[in-house]
Amino acid sequence: MINFLDLKAINLQYADELKAAFAKVLDSGWYILGEEVKAFEEEFAAYCGATHAVGVSNGLDALHLILRAYGIGQGDEVIVPANTYIATWLAVTYAGATPIPVEPCVDTFNIDPACIAEAITPRTRAILVVHLYGQPADMDPIMALAEKHDLKVIEDAAQAHGACYKGRRVGTLGHAAGFSFYPGKNLGALGDAGAVTTNDAKLADKVRVLANYGSRVKYHNEVSGFNCRLDELQAAFLRVKLQHLDQETVRRRDVAARYFTGLQGCDLMLPQVPAQIEAAWHLFVVRSTQRTVLQQALAERGIGTMIHYPVAPHLQPAYAWLGLNRGAFPLSERLHDQVLSLPMGPTLSNTEVEQVIAAVRAELT
Ligand SMILES: *Cc1c(COP(=O)(O)O)cnc(C)c1O
Repeated sequence: MINFLDLKAINLQYADELKAAFAKVLDSGWYILGEEVKAFEEEFAAYCGATHAVGVSNGLDALHLILRAYGIGQGDEVIVPANTYIATWLAVTYAGATPIPVEPCVDTFNIDPACIAEAITPRTRAILVVHLYGQPADMDPIMALAEKHDLKVIEDAAQAHGACYKGRRVGTLGHAAGFSFYPGKNLGALGDAGAVTTNDAKLADKVRVLANYGSRVKYHNEVSGFNCRLDELQAAFLRVKLQHLDQETVRRRDVAARYFTGLQGCDLMLPQVPAQIEAAWHLFVVRSTQRTVLQQALAERGIGTMIHYPVAPHLQPAYAWLGLNRGAFPLSERLHDQVLSLPMGPTLSNTEVEQVIAAVRAELT
């Protein structure tokens, strides 16, 4: 039996350290906005190479708060990838703005800068870029477009902790970035958690105030805010796991390299990694015209796979009101019909990777 992702094994590697972190917070008697959150924010900002990090409740709230802090809402348009997890779009509608989806590049699954250019209107305020599956999007042309049209570029870095574009880590590539530390993400808490990173001090300050009831001084409220705080316990766990993140990413890269070698020559489309990118390999996503058969065959051999994602956001009932039918984004729809995520994670053994490769080869060669 090979699990798609073995969260328990991942966290048990650090059991002693996590228990010590728990004991420290319990003993401190201080559970919200204290030393652990402060220390994690400093450590995570330094990790990304950003000047500011603000801990928040989850990835969706991170993106939502960035949009709010930029004053983006009703009547504004935000360009989003047609091919993404729905949370990217939900952040936009949560803020009251309208998501304007655009197609990805067929090779990388990431947003296509040429399609962004065509979607810009006088109402466009921001481009919400996703580094899907752990691969940074092609940021240089996107930043050039943003400069030309005076737009904000927001990174959805929920799947890409530590990934690099031209030697720079995600979280510093746009004007601001939202991270998720949902347990299954590359840097995962033991519950919900997230962060905003930015080099913009004013934005960081606004996000911090919005996330804490719109308050800077207790019981004095400058704006009508939210409760989107990161708690001390999750921050303490994240501090432990951040120390091991790079070593886990190295292992993910090794697993990906083994898949590339082992799956050569299969009737399968492997991921493409542009030269300027170092992926974080949140997911290893292949494409197959026989996805259902392949997934079933792997399941029969006890190998867990997942589909990220089975339904494109524009075809979800939640977004029926946008009036975008099947055929509106043919490339994204095709990707949603063909993608399959193979087991990927830092605790996957070489033997397990070989077993997955053998099972795929048995089915597709
Ligand atoms: C996980 C995820 C989110 C949302 O993060 P939560 O912490 O679950 O709110 C947003 N965008 C993408 C691309 C994600 O994978």
